[in-house]
Amino acid sequence: MIYKKSEDLFDTAKKLIPGGVNSPVRYFEPYPLFIKKSQNSYLWDEDGNKYIDFCNCYGAMLLGHSYKKIMSAVVNQIKHGTLFCTPTKLEVTLSQLIQTNFPSMKKIRLVNTGTEATMTAIRLVKGYTSNKRIIKCEGCYHGSYDEVLTGSGSGFANTHKHKRSNNIKNDTIVVQYNNIDELENTLKKNTDIAGLIIEPILANMGVIPPAKKYLKQVRKLTHDYNIPLIFDEVVTGFRVSEGGAQKIFGLVPDLTILGKILGNGFAIGAVGGKNEILECLSPLGNVYQASTFAGNPISVTAAINSIKTINKLKHKLYSRLNKYCTKLVTAIDDIATDLNIQHQINNVSSMYQIFFTKIPVTNYQTCKTSDVKKFKKLFVSLFSNGVFIPPSQFESIFISYAHTNNDINKTIDAYSNALKIIKN
Ligand SMILES: *Cc1c(COP(=O)(O)O)cnc(C)c1O
Repeated sequence: MIYKKSEDLFDTAKKLIPGGVNSPVRYFEPYPLFIKKSQNSYLWDEDGNKYIDFCNCYGAMLLGHSYKKIMSAVVNQIKHGTLFCTPTKLEVTLSQLIQTNFPSMKKIRLVNTGTEATMTAIRLVKGYTSNKRIIKCEGCYHGSYDEVLTGSGSGFANTHKHKRSNNIKNDTIVVQYNNIDELENTLKKNTDIAGLIIEPILANMGVIPPAKKYLKQVRKLTHDYNIPLIFDEVVTGFRVSEGGAQKIFGLVPDLTILGKILGNGFAIGAVGGKNEILECLSPLGNVYQASTFAGNPISVTAAINSIKTINKLKHKLYSRLNKYCTKLVTAIDDIATDLNIQHQINNVSSMYQIFFTKIPVTNYQTCKTSDVKKFKKLFVSLFSNGVFIPPSQFESIFISYAHTNNDINKTIDAYSNALKIIKN
């Protein structure tokens, strides 16, 4: 394949944009692909190369790229206006749809991104409790600002090599994921905790499932210590079920964060939960939070149609996503085993990741034992065979409803080639 146009564009881009990218996870060596078009399960770059997409905008495109029903609803909405900065009927409709799927979200405030949603949640629990410190788990990613960029997963897990410190001072306490004793000790020792924020299924260090009973114990402890529990379901919301991880584990968090899939390709986020916490927000309470673009009719229309589609497809959607993911994961696991490559594969519903380590990956530390050089080789080989996965070990790989059986078969072949290269 030829990547000349991407190379040339990157040369210009890096003179204008730090590192040539508007989000660090998009960069890879020697230069990232510049994508021109997407449809269903495919991406096309500026040089005309076609890829089967398993990044799916870090999981956002559950239904696939440019899903027809969403696109036509948005095009229709554009004719009626793109931004009013007043309340709209659309926001009421969307909030009802969110609440039907996530009954724990008694009140909902819409924002524009996942980052903005977690930021709002953290500000909110600080106001609610009058405490100042947040607890988070190592490897969980909650966006890019001070309080949550410590012990973070996703692209942050790659940035240790930079000279300038990437740990800007903050008050956040970091505990290990899947370690309930450490959490309990932390809660015992500290009296100034405003809340605990967690990805119920860790999807930003590859995929790491919660240990049996871990989430239940987290819920019980936070309850006993009277600490608001925030489930960041930006990835898991609408992916592991239409009601997210809280539905499959039967747990009720105090606050829930949604993003990514909520808009299936349009910028939107949401924070919702207990009435008494959400009512601290202005104009009801004195926790101020505001946004010009929040609840804009374009993103809200996209979200309404995403949820309606997800709810309509329901059984068909999740059974197909999970079936294809199981098929792919089983095949990759078999190929790697046959080749005697030391590896782990973690898989939850329609997301997975392979790690080149002999140690089971259950938290940040064990994830970091993976041989990232092998992962880089895997990534390069896959994309030269027309399969695009997130360019980092510390991300999850996502199946979408647009993937076909043929896509999965081609991808298995591409993994087979790539793993043979790793072996040699
Ligand atoms: C992507 C992500 C975010 C941040 O969302 P943005 O829309 O990128 O700001 C927050 N939490 C989790 C779990 C995420 O995966």
